Amino acid sequence: MGRLFLAKLEGRCYTCIYCGNHLANSSDLLSRTFHSRAGKAYLFDSVALVNIVFGDQEERMMTTGLHEVSDIHCKKCMQMCGWRYDVAHEDKEKYKEGKFILERKKLVAANNGAAPPVRPAVAADSSDDSLARYPHRLLPASVARFAAAARAPHHGYPDTDSDPEACV
Ligand SMILES: [Zn+2]
Repeated sequence: MGRLFLAKLEGRCYTCIYCGNHLANSSDLLSRTFHSRAGKAYLFDSVALVNIVFGDQEERMMTTGLHEVSDIHCKKCMQMCGWRYDVAHEDKEKYKEGKFILERKKLVAANNGAAPPVRPAVAADSSDDSLARYPHRLLPASVARFAAAARAPHHGYPDTDSDPEACV
């Protein structure tokens, strides 16, 4: 086995509850109102791709219709921690394509370093260059971050259940 390369995220982030591997930036959190079989789940605009591995893509029927998804696993301990929406067959669910679900039970909220809790989008983007965030979207990361900020201006992230989703 070769050396496992894992990136460390700075500032507020979510880590794997089993091994502490850094999975996603808090600034990429879009919604806390999703559900999975394991309970509450969070929707992220992106995750730390270098720290996860993908399972095979498969069709899955959810309460919001048929989706093609790829499970995502923590690269360090290989626990399944969520999935990526690859294709949503319902038009109103298309916004989820390319986005990531992480199950709340598998996460620990952490704050690394002295970064302020809410950073300007541009500054956050430039300081994230070391994370090897491979381009996987059509939008540049800075644009996507602005879009994410526009969709989720509530930095307090109220814990509501207005947009439930569950696997069947
Ligand atoms: Zn892990």
